[in-house]
Amino acid sequence: MKINIAIDGPAAAGKSTIAKILAKKLNYTYIDTGAMYRCVAYFALKNHVDPQDEMKVCQLLKDIHIDMKADKIYLNGEDVSKKIRENEVSMQASSVSRYKDVREFLVSQQRQLAKNGGFILDGRDIGTVVLPDAKLKIYQVASIECRALRRHKENIERGLESNLEEIKAEIESRDYQDMHRDISPLKKADDAIEIDTSNMTLEEVSQTIYKLVTERVNELC
Ligand code: C5P
Repeated sequence: MKINIAIDGPAAAGKSTIAKILAKKLNYTYIDTGAMYRCVAYFALKNHVDPQDEMKVCQLLKDIHIDMKADKIYLNGEDVSKKIRENEVSMQASSVSRYKDVREFLVSQQRQLAKNGGFILDGRDIGTVVLPDAKLKIYQVASIECRALRRHKENIERGLESNLEEIKAEIESRDYQDMHRDISPLKKADDAIEIDTSNMTLEEVSQTIYKLVTERVNELC
């Protein structure tokens, strides 16, 4: 039996890294919902639309088609996996994620993708809005210092320009915006299990969640 797993938490808490490890271990499918918001922001920027202009951004949605295949994100057929990780796109993804139409557009696709069991979704509203019935909900956190350093190293590995202090400021302001927006703000679902990964290795985090998945599946069988 396969269940759906929701992993939420603030920016750069290591959610996607853990989700990918778990998906491999469990033979589940991973869906990076943040990448979808990033695609909307990237598309707006590419078309010279101000991400702060809600009406114009929402008018673009009809021209956006997102596909995810083998760890890559395609926007209207173009592989944007690397481009959507740039700092400007991160900040603007948080801006466009405030808009009702953008959220409805992406949430319905996310629900459609995960309508059967065997999916791991990570984001901000998975346990609260996208999959409120997910059988396992994790709220993954880590100190701001840890998160900034991890993102910095990740950027360098990806060959992107990176400045630790800038990343820290960007993460803090993005978290503030994500936690204080009107629609689907980032918050821990009542039934989510919080894991602080600041002092944990990747192996420890993935083992902890893997154990929770097996326990939950056994309970349900
Ligand atoms: O997870 P990631 O950092 O790639 O997400 C980029 C932005 O997309 C977040 O800062 C947040 O504003 C938005 N997001 C969201 N809901 C999700 C996933 C991401 O609002 N489920």
